[in-house]
Amino acid sequence: MREKVDILIVDDLKENHLVMESVLTDEDLNLINAMSGEEALELCSNHSFAVILMDVQMPGLDGFQTAELLRKIEKTKKIPIIFVTAISKEKKSIFKGYEVGAVDYLFKPIDPLILRSKVNIFKELYLQRRLIEDIAQELENKIIELTNLKEEKCKLEDISLEDFLTGIYNRRGIDRMLEMHRRNCARYELPLSLIILDLDNFKNYNDMYGHVKGDEVLRKVAQSIKGALGRSEDFVGRYGGEEFLVVLPNTPLNGAIVIADRINNKLKELNIKHEKNNGYGHVTVSMGIASVFPKNNTNMEVIIKQADEMLYEAKENGKNQYKYIEL
Ligand SMILES: [Mg+2]
Repeated sequence: MREKVDILIVDDLKENHLVMESVLTDEDLNLINAMSGEEALELCSNHSFAVILMDVQMPGLDGFQTAELLRKIEKTKKIPIIFVTAISKEKKSIFKGYEVGAVDYLFKPIDPLILRSKVNIFKELYLQRRLIEDIAQELENKIIELTNLKEEKCKLEDISLEDFLTGIYNRRGIDRMLEMHRRNCARYELPLSLIILDLDNFKNYNDMYGHVKGDEVLRKVAQSIKGALGRSEDFVGRYGGEEFLVVLPNTPLNGAIVIADRINNKLKELNIKHEKNNGYGHVTVSMGIASVFPKNNTNMEVIIKQADEMLYEAKENGKNQYKYIEL
């Protein structure tokens, strides 16, 4: 149902109210009467009027004085006022009306057609303004909602072990899991291998296909790597922007090489088109592999760094390949 629109009629004569009421029969309108300027001011402070039909000649505050006061109050200064006057169509008094904020004039005796159409214009203006205000409010609410969600997400990311984009471990998750496996391997004197992977020419990919597609590639590659891992304790995490780290507990170098080959095969199968990738045609990765028998005092940061140096060599050597080191 359409909301009713409040119209204020200010006139010191009851008969004039009745005349207006008999003309303004639009059922969308809610006519409110004031018998004086003082009463009008009071009503304006707790209503939102689409327009005020203001008699000019009234005892006490006249129409002009009332309008002047309304213009001084923030809440009421923008309410459109139509002066209704019997007195002279003298230019002087009309100008005075415009000075105090009249938007229009009506002359008594009232022409019903003119009154109706003028009020109708202000009714429509008012409804449109309300609609815009509602939309603005809705937008503002949405923005607040989004801001809250973003904050929630940041909080979650702070404590999460999962990378939100790819669904695999994030840096924090990697650190935690890696430390657990390092201790385990050190205790049982088992080998541990790391593969650090970096997408080749990924900046070119983003530049050419856009970041949305780029994110999609990161998700697909993450899943491919995951699919290439054999055992439940093997895992992959997102190490940086387009960098992944595979951790293979209880795995010597030759086992890690098997996994690296498998990852390459998966990516070949995946066959994501990438035209600016050293002529390979599809998305590829370079890898650095490092294998170690961790000790109690082994700093895994150092081992990751070794793997990273191998990755660098693979890149230097033309990408889409791996290099390895046994420590
Ligand atoms: Mg009067």
